[in-house]
Amino acid sequence: MYKYDPKSLVADEFINDEEIKDTLRFADENKDNLELIDKIIEKAKLRKGIDHREASVLLACDNPQKLDEIYALAQQIKKDFYGDRIVMFAPLYLSNYCVNGCVYCPYHAKNKHICRKKLTQEEVKKEVIALQDMGHKRLAIEAGEDPVNNPIEYILDCIKTIYSIKHKNGAIRRVNVNIAATTVENYRKLKDAGIGTYILFQETYNKESYEKLHPTGPKHNYNYHTEAMDRAMEGGIDDVGLGVLFGLELYRYELAGLLMHAEHLEAVHGVGPHTISVPRIKKADDIDPSTFDNGIDDDTFAKITAIIRIAVPYTGMIISTREGQKVREQVIKLGISQISGASCTSVGGYDHPEAEEENSAQFDVSDTRTLDEVVCWLMELGYIPSFCTACYREGRTGDRFMALCKNGQIQNCCHPNALMTLKEYLMDYASEKTKKIGDALIEKELLKIPNEKVRRIATEHINDIENNNKRDFRF
Ligand code: SF4
Ligand code: SF4
Repeated sequence: MYKYDPKSLVADEFINDEEIKDTLRFADENKDNLELIDKIIEKAKLRKGIDHREASVLLACDNPQKLDEIYALAQQIKKDFYGDRIVMFAPLYLSNYCVNGCVYCPYHAKNKHICRKKLTQEEVKKEVIALQDMGHKRLAIEAGEDPVNNPIEYILDCIKTIYSIKHKNGAIRRVNVNIAATTVENYRKLKDAGIGTYILFQETYNKESYEKLHPTGPKHNYNYHTEAMDRAMEGGIDDVGLGVLFGLELYRYELAGLLMHAEHLEAVHGVGPHTISVPRIKKADDIDPSTFDNGIDDDTFAKITAIIRIAVPYTGMIISTREGQKVREQVIKLGISQISGASCTSVGGYDHPEAEEENSAQFDVSDTRTLDEVVCWLMELGYIPSFCTACYREGRTGDRFMALCKNGQIQNCCHPNALMTLKEYLMDYASEKTKKIGDALIEKELLKIPNEKVRRIATEHINDIENNNKRDFRF
């Protein structure tokens, strides 16, 4: 009898290999069991999610009619929970010094031909100004693991610098942090520094593969890495972001592991992951994705996105510029709620674009459009690009955020906030073409705010943004 316990704080017990293998066997046995599949789809329609076993059955199913139903449901849930809004963010690479040996990442310690860089606070400032000048309000900071070059004090200094810069009408209002697994004490320091979400990709939930893919460095310790979110929550961070790097292991194994992790967070902390990211392995210096034999095609990627959407409806889903325009368009429809735009994956590359040529990037970017082009493209597709950061700044994090989501109240905030922050973007950063499309969109969308009082206040704020140079309104 294997040990599987979502309430356990031991990684091997809440992400249990035997349970995952048993789940995959169960999924294979039931992939044509239409009665069970219908039952799972009916349960998913209640919009309270489905568990890792149920999701795995849907993932194994290849009945075209049932797949159409799954996609339609994912689209409907996306629409009901997130409307047409897409939240925008950008990554900011602080340092690519790293002591780990992750075989899929060019920052691995043994890569001697990558240019190693770490931003000084003056350089952080320049990067932030360059990002503000594009219109970004929300960042995800990234750094390799290196206790000498990138200690927690360095990360904290960078966060302080980022929040302190007010350039023209710009401001970074939310800093999410993607750094290596660390101690409760360090998570507490990050919390005190005012971070938004703590993001840590699991990479793979398969322990055996994990240990092979991380042969050296502190990240080799699977349990320490997998239990990081529990320590983050113990340190007071209540918004955490999960993710796997699709392509490293069998995707079916990863989906089951990812959802078990979400179930664990819910069981122990009463609140599931704030976001889930779905990166796929990409080409980079010293990294050839074809050497990993678990790559997934675009259709499978879309199927995974749709199933995550219906499995955890309250969890935001993130996609980066690793994916090109076509794939992004497909998965935004099925569940993605946050995307990066105009990303630079090298250290110092926003202020100093030649940094790209210096060979310090973590991966090749597929979507190379400017933020203005991405914003315009989203609006032409009927979406509302949002630069909203309101929840975190209003203290709506963790279970308070989830409670609002679950009783439907979040809808009264997100839509007007999206329109007001889009208006700021249009006034301060957009091209003429984007502004024209955006202004027409805002006018139309304001009418869709159901609450009359909220509609009136949002309209007044938008007027103030346009005519009185006022900024930073939020519900
Ligand atoms: S994935 Fe992260 S920990 Fe691993 S080598 Fe790259 S930067 Fe370092
Ligand atoms: S109101 Fe909250 S949930 Fe809605 S977009 Fe803004 S930050 Fe996100």
